[in-house]
Amino acid sequence: MKPPLLISCDFDGTVTRQDTLVEILNTYGSGHWHDIQKKVAVGEMSIREGLQAEMSTVQADETALKELLTRRVEMDPSFSPFLKTVRAQGIPLVLLSGGFDLCVETVLAEKGLGPLPYLANRLYRKNGSWGVEFPYPSVTCQDCGHCKGDPILSWKAQGYTTVFVGNGVTDRCAVRAADLTFAKDDLATWCRSQGIPAVSYQTFTDVQHDLEGRGWL
Ligand SMILES: [Mg+2]
Ligand SMILES: [Zn+2]
Repeated sequence: MKPPLLISCDFDGTVTRQDTLVEILNTYGSGHWHDIQKKVAVGEMSIREGLQAEMSTVQADETALKELLTRRVEMDPSFSPFLKTVRAQGIPLVLLSGGFDLCVETVLAEKGLGPLPYLANRLYRKNGSWGVEFPYPSVTCQDCGHCKGDPILSWKAQGYTTVFVGNGVTDRCAVRAADLTFAKDDLATWCRSQGIPAVSYQTFTDVQHDLEGRGWL
């Protein structure tokens, strides 16, 4: 019997090929952002503090950011057919972004994929600079901007079998929470180092084939 699935996917580098924040910082941020990333990577700075510090260096308005994202960001071409299959079977798919609402919405609209439910951090503009809000604070996790573990735990509590697809540092809490994880890039390395089981994948076609093999799709 097919379990009641709920699939959640990281956005940057998973659904998209590029990381939207990296594109923004490379074009409009100060070169100093690499130092901030290093501090976050070794735990000297929280993910929240890092995101705020990085975005405060960005010298571009909303129009410029949208233009950049539209020009630079490509989708993983296997995502759209995967989404179609999943939708046809009535399986909910939610994007869990460690980045920003503006980036998710701009890319989805431009690629004709929206509306798609997502959770992300919020960007706002005040006095000519960018600020970051974290609308999904976690009670259990003080580090993540938007902790991807919490929503997955709540879906499990509602009876869903949870599948998570991701690639990076902000996906770690999701991996701990999900029933089944697909991991690539840094996330796959981290899962191996922690002894956490995860299926390694490269594209959403791999994810689809694996789920079909389990009889879940
Ligand atoms: Mg990612
Ligand atoms: Zn977390």
